[in-house]
Amino acid sequence: MRKNITGNKIREEFIEFFKEKGHTFVPSSSLVPGGDQTLLFTNAGMVQFKDVFLGTDDRPYKRAVNSQKCMRVSGKHNDLDDVGRDDYHHTFFEMLGNWSFGDYYKKEAISWAWEILTEVWGLEKSKIWVTCFKDEKGEIPTDEEAAENWKKQPGIDFDHIVFFGREDNFWEMAETGPCGPSSEIHIDRGEEYCDKREDPGHNCHVNGDCHRFLELWNLVFIQYNRMGPNKLEQLPACHVDTGLGFERIVSVIQNVDSNYRTDLLMPLMDVVMDISGQTEEEREKHFTPYRVIADHCRAASFLIADGVVPGNVGRNYICRMIIRRAARFGSKIGLEDPFLGQIARKVIGLYGKAYPELKKNHKTIIDNLTREEKKFQSTVEGGLSILGTYINSMVESEKKVLRGDLAFDLYATHGLPLEITKDVLEENGFDVDQKSFYESMEKHRLSSGAGKEFGPLGGEDAEFYFGIASALIEEKLIKKDGITADPYSSLLISTEVVSLIKDVAQISSISEGDEAEIVTRDTNFYIESGGQVSDKGFIETENGENIFIVRDVRKPAPGIIVHIGEMKSGKLQVGQKVNVKVDKKRRQDIKRNHTATHLLQAELRKILGEHVRQAGSSVAPNRLRFDFTHPDPVTSNQLEEIEKQVNNAILGNSILIISHKKLDQALSEGATALFGEKYSEEVRTIAIGEGVPYSYELCGGTHVSETSEIGTFIITSEGSAAAGIRRIEAVTGRKAYEIIHKRLSNIKETANELECSIDDLHSSVNKLLTEKQGLLDQVAKLSKAQALNDYQKAKEEISYIREIPTLKMQFSDLSLNCMREIADEFRKDFSGGTAVLSNIVDNDKIQLIVAVSDELIKKGFHAGKIAKNIAKDIGGNGGGRPQLAQAGGKEIEKLDDVLNKLDKYIKKE
Ligand code: ATP
Ligand code: MG
Repeated sequence: MRKNITGNKIREEFIEFFKEKGHTFVPSSSLVPGGDQTLLFTNAGMVQFKDVFLGTDDRPYKRAVNSQKCMRVSGKHNDLDDVGRDDYHHTFFEMLGNWSFGDYYKKEAISWAWEILTEVWGLEKSKIWVTCFKDEKGEIPTDEEAAENWKKQPGIDFDHIVFFGREDNFWEMAETGPCGPSSEIHIDRGEEYCDKREDPGHNCHVNGDCHRFLELWNLVFIQYNRMGPNKLEQLPACHVDTGLGFERIVSVIQNVDSNYRTDLLMPLMDVVMDISGQTEEEREKHFTPYRVIADHCRAASFLIADGVVPGNVGRNYICRMIIRRAARFGSKIGLEDPFLGQIARKVIGLYGKAYPELKKNHKTIIDNLTREEKKFQSTVEGGLSILGTYINSMVESEKKVLRGDLAFDLYATHGLPLEITKDVLEENGFDVDQKSFYESMEKHRLSSGAGKEFGPLGGEDAEFYFGIASALIEEKLIKKDGITADPYSSLLISTEVVSLIKDVAQISSISEGDEAEIVTRDTNFYIESGGQVSDKGFIETENGENIFIVRDVRKPAPGIIVHIGEMKSGKLQVGQKVNVKVDKKRRQDIKRNHTATHLLQAELRKILGEHVRQAGSSVAPNRLRFDFTHPDPVTSNQLEEIEKQVNNAILGNSILIISHKKLDQALSEGATALFGEKYSEEVRTIAIGEGVPYSYELCGGTHVSETSEIGTFIITSEGSAAAGIRRIEAVTGRKAYEIIHKRLSNIKETANELECSIDDLHSSVNKLLTEKQGLLDQVAKLSKAQALNDYQKAKEEISYIREIPTLKMQFSDLSLNCMREIADEFRKDFSGGTAVLSNIVDNDKIQLIVAVSDELIKKGFHAGKIAKNIAKDIGGNGGGRPQLAQAGGKEIEKLDDVLNKLDKYIKKE
C-alpha cells in the first residue's frame, strides 16, 4: 500500500491509467443535472451520460474516464442518515468512473479494475472480494461471463468470487430502459472493523450488516433494454458504467480506518479543531460532530460553486439544510460564531485545483455560508426551545411521533429544517411524521404563490413521449437529438407532420378548435433553455387554409419536440406537408433582449467586479431579467453607468461571432459558462466584437447579427432576488422605444401645460416651486396676523372659570409657532390666567397648546398636567412644562365637548 500518496494524486492516477487505455477525460458535470427534470442532484457518474445509454445522443468518444461530483441527500439515493454516523457515507462525494459506450466490455473492465487496484495501488489481493449476478428468481441468466473473467485475474482467490441477486447486483435506470448485471468489488478490512462482534450469532460477510467488508467499486454492464416488467431485450451494443467511491479508495490506500482520516477530509477537521480549541482526545470523543461539519461544509461549498445558494425549496432547501445542520453540530462542540467560512477556505484550498469552480466562486461561497449561519443563529434558540416543549408534552402524552405541521412550523417560523428537528427528536428517542411535513410545506409553497419546482414534464408522461420518440427515430422520421433544422437561421421551413397528439394519445388528424400537440419531421422553433423563452408561431399548409397556432414548444422526453397549441382553421393529418413558421417580430424582440443580456453581464463585471456571476436569467420578448451574485444594492450612479456603457456598446455596432468548438478550448479562451448548464463536448460560443471580444459566452440562444439591431437599452428596475443575489430588469428595441415615447409625451404635455419649451422645463418647474414657497410664506404670515388679531378680540371677551381668566381659541391649519406666540402674549397680558388653544390640522388631527401664567403656577396649576388630561379625552397624549405644554389628539368630534367643559381640566394638582 502507498500510505504517503495524496488523495489528489490518487485521483490523477485513476484518470491517467484510463487515459493510457484510450479513454477521453470528461470533466465532472455540475451537481445540478442539466436538462433532467426528474433529478434534484447528480447522484452518480452516469447522469451526464444518460442520453447516450438511452440512445438519444452520441458522444465523439467511445471510452471515457471521469471523476464526478455527486450528492446523495434526496430522492432514491439519500444517505443523510448515515452521514456523520459511519465512516464511509457522505452527502457530497466523488465518484471515479470509466465508461465504454458500445466499445469494450466485461473482459477489459474487469482486468483493468484488477490491475489498477492491485498493481498501481498495491491493494492486497487476498483481501479483495467480488460479487456477480445470479437471479434469485431464475429469470435472467447468471452473469457467468463476469465470474469467468474474474477467475482470470492473477492472484485472485476463487472463493472470493460470490453471487448475489437483483437487489445488490442488477442495475436498472428506470421501470423501462437500459439495464444489466453488475459486479461489485469489496475489500475485507479485517476482523477489527466488525462492529457487531458482540452480537451472538453474527457472521461477517460481503453485503453483510457490519463494517468489516467495504464496497469500493461497482462495475455495471449494460446489456439489456427493459421493455416491461417481464421483458428484457438484448441491446445491440453493450456498455460499461463503473463507479468507484473516491474517498473510500483513498482511505484504503492511505490505510486509515475512516474516510474522514484521509487527507481529503482530515484537514477540514483540523480546522474545526483549531477553531474550537479542543484537543485531539476531545475530537475523538466528539467524532460525529466533526464528521458532520467536515462533510456538510464541503458539500455546501460545492453546491454554492454550482450556483445552488441557500433557500426555501428544492435544491436550495437542501443547501440551507446542510449548512444549518453543520452549524447545529458546531454548537455541540462549543462553536457559536460563524465558523463555516474558515472551513470552506480549506475546502477551496484542497479541491480548487481539481474543481476550479470553487476558486472562481470563493467569495460567493464564504459570503453565503456566513450569511446563512448568522440567519440561523438568530432564530435557532427559539426554535429549539419550542421543540423542547413539544418533546416534554410528547413525554407526558406518551406519543412517539411529532406532527408534521408542527415540524413545518418550526422550519417556517424558526428556521429549523426538518432534518435538524429529526436529529433532535432521535437524540431523545422520538420521530417525526415526515410525510405530513412535506404536505404542509407543499401547501405553504403553493399558497404563498411560489411555483412548482419541477414542472409536469419528466413525470409519468415522459414514458409516453419516450415511446413515441423511439418509434419515430426507428422509422427515421426524426433524428436522435430531436433538433433537425437550424433553429437559428430560417424562420420558415417546409416539412411534414409525423405525429399528432391529443390528451396524451396519438391521433391521425386534428381539426378546427382542437387543442393538440404536433411533432414535425424538422423544426426551426427555439425551445426554452438558457433562460430564453420558447418561440411561438404557426404550422400551416402551403395554401394557408389549415392553420395551427403554436403557443409553446417543449421537449417532453429526450429526442422529441412537440409544438403545443390550437387548430385555428381547417385540419391537419399525419403525413401532411406543412410550413413551420416562427413569429418573426417576437423572435426579433427576443434576440435583441438576449444579446443585450450578454452586454449587461459584461458591463456588470466591469463596473461591479469579477465576482458577478449569473444566477438566473429570463429572456422574453418584452423584457430581460438578469439575476447575479452581488452582496449590495447597485447604486443609482452605478446603474446609470451600466446603462450608459451598454448603450455605448450597442452603438459601437460590434458584430456577433457564433462558433462551434470544443468545450475545453472555449473555456481556456475565457468563455463565460453557466451554472448548472449541461455542456456537451462541442459547444456554441457567442463573441460580441472581433479581436478581444467585448463579451464571450457559451450560449445556445438566438442573437442579433450586429449590436446596433438592439436599438436602445433601458434598465427598468433593480432589486433583491434572494440573499446575496440582485436582479436587474431591462428593455430594448420596440419596448424601449415605447417607454421613451411614453416618457417623452408626458414631458411634452407637462411643458405644454407650463407653457414653456421642453428644454426650459427644469427651470420652469424650479421657478414654480420657488413661487409656491413664496406664496406659502405669505399665507403663513397672513394667517399669523389674522390669528393675533383674533386674539386681541378674544381677550376682550375672556371668560372666567372659578374666577380664573380662561382663554379658549380654535384655529385651523395654523403653525405651532404662531400658537406659541399667542400663548406668550396671553401670559404677559394675564398674570393669573390660563389659555387653551386648539388647532385642527388637515381636518384630520388636533394640536393643543396650554398656557398657565406665573401667578397661577404658584397656586399649584400646571400646564403640562392640564394638557395631559385633555389629551386623554381626545384620543392622544400630551405634556410639558408648568407654563407651556402641548398635546395632540385624533378624535376631532370630541373637541367641542372638551372645550365646553374646560372647568373639568383647569384645576390644581
Ligand atoms: P452503499 O451500499 O455503500 O451505500 P451504493 O450501492 O449506494 O453503496 P453505488 O450506487 O454502486 O453505491 O455507487 C458506486 C460507489 O460509490 C460505491 O461503490 C461507493 O464506493 C461509492 N458511494 C456510494 N454512496 C456513497 C456515499 N454516500 N458516500 C461516499 N461514497 C459513496
Ligand atoms: Mg448507497
